[in-house]
Amino acid sequence: MTTTTSAAAAGTETLPEHVRVLVVGAGFAGLGMAIKLEEAGQADFLVVDKGDTVGGTWRDNTYPGAACDVPSQLYSFSFAPNPTWSRSFSPQPEIHAYLQDVAQRAGVLDRFRFGTTVQDAAWDTEDEVWTVVTSAGTVTADVLISGSGGLSEPKDPDIKGIDGFTGAIFHTARWDHDVDLTGKRVAVIGTGASAIQVIPEIAKTVAHLGVYQRTAPWVMPRHDRAYTGIERLGFRYLPGLQKIYRSAIYWGRETYVPGFTRVPKILSPAQTMALGNIRKGISDPELQEKVTPDFQIGCKRILISNTYYPALAQDNVEVITDGITEITPTGIVTRDARTNELRERDIDVLIVATGFFTTDQPIAHHIKGREGRTLGDVWAETGMTSYKGTTAAGFPNLFQIVGANTGLGHSSMVFMIESQIAYILSALQQMGERGIAAVEPTQAAQAAWNDDLQRRMKRTVWSTGGCASWYLDEHGRNTTLWPRTTFAFRGLLRSFDIEQYVVTTRSDAPTRTKEHVA
Ligand code: NAP
Repeated sequence: MTTTTSAAAAGTETLPEHVRVLVVGAGFAGLGMAIKLEEAGQADFLVVDKGDTVGGTWRDNTYPGAACDVPSQLYSFSFAPNPTWSRSFSPQPEIHAYLQDVAQRAGVLDRFRFGTTVQDAAWDTEDEVWTVVTSAGTVTADVLISGSGGLSEPKDPDIKGIDGFTGAIFHTARWDHDVDLTGKRVAVIGTGASAIQVIPEIAKTVAHLGVYQRTAPWVMPRHDRAYTGIERLGFRYLPGLQKIYRSAIYWGRETYVPGFTRVPKILSPAQTMALGNIRKGISDPELQEKVTPDFQIGCKRILISNTYYPALAQDNVEVITDGITEITPTGIVTRDARTNELRERDIDVLIVATGFFTTDQPIAHHIKGREGRTLGDVWAETGMTSYKGTTAAGFPNLFQIVGANTGLGHSSMVFMIESQIAYILSALQQMGERGIAAVEPTQAAQAAWNDDLQRRMKRTVWSTGGCASWYLDEHGRNTTLWPRTTFAFRGLLRSFDIEQYVVTTRSDAPTRTKEHVA
């Protein structure tokens, strides 16, 4: 393999000049893709990642209490069951260790380059390759696969004065473990999935915790437990047992789909259970009212916790629902909506739990297609759109894992990721067999796909439930979630539907012909 002169930042390995497939991101998506490429005999690939190990969001989110909301029997690769899960819902360190172990055992890490950030990727119409500029040099690739995910770039709140805060400040996804919170006055902005995990943990040691809540979330009980010794023995020695657990969890969760997508009333028992969770954890009626959501359950992501409400009821914790007007060098200023009165609370540490760039994925601004426009430019006009959440018109040989409308509120993203990996592998196989240089979906196929999605969105609880959420973009379109069953998604992506693509064939001669196969 030829090499460029610049060394990869993570080590002595240099980047090759060219690879058949370049994968961006080493989380579940990038790692799963690499393993399946290897299995399919497509060994000429490279995975680049800005971090220093595999794991993606499970490497980056190390905040206290971080754990998965989907049981790991399902939130794991179907091809790599893990008999050593300690609990039904795995904590972040176990999931990160699992991914590292899977990567080691698959023998693919020699093609991973860590500490390597993609700065720019542009489609070269002449040579029909992607030219990818990274922090460790430039590499060209026939095919570019983005596995960078929707939760890779933390979003800081745009609040007046935040840059002038002089105490410690960090995002939950970039936890500063050097800051000791013991005995400190701490503020957490946000009450989403990350916040409700972190709050009970830090409430144990801080002097005062201010929880700044803009919208109260629905929080259901978390049916989490340690696996018994017998279960763990069974997982190790009865290979079918984990499959049974996995299937039961999978089908149980799929029964939620009609509630989210067609008949939100079905979710009423869940709402009753969540109200019970509030009453169980909090006895003060005023606080109960403060944390009771004013929208239909399911409209935003349903959260699960047994410890969140009891933490809010602690004497050293204050739930603040007044809007934040400003952050000063030493505190947070809020305005009482009824009296208009301003109040400043002094703090030592500010933790922002304000989520991620989901509807405007940062990597899209670095990927330039056939006409020299970035995916971000295109999406600024159309909203985040794609064909089957995986390919995009105008962006030949670009495949995105966890692209537009592939997110889930009820089940495991790993299932969606594996569906997309199968689709991409099928595309690569057909391209190889037929001597195809480039594929991109037709505008018509992409438009039909998105029209169908948006038609289905109209009656979902995400659109009708009376909330504003990160599921929706600035135009109010839901460009993040999949509005059908996960098995429908898998069926639709089972094999690469080349008839929906514009195809450039590569003959033995250097000339290439464009043909529309449909
Ligand atoms: P999130 O769900 O987007 O929550 C962000 C929170 O910050 C919301 O409460 C939001 O309020 C608030 N917020 C945002 N900007 C604000 C501002 N300027 N002022 C005041 N409040 C503001 O983010 P997240 O909790 O990090 O979770 C993101 C996603 O990551 C989850 O939905 C899930 O997919 C995943 N996740 C999963 C787990 C798990 O499996 N356990 C854990 C963590 C994260 P509003 O509601 O009013 O917008």
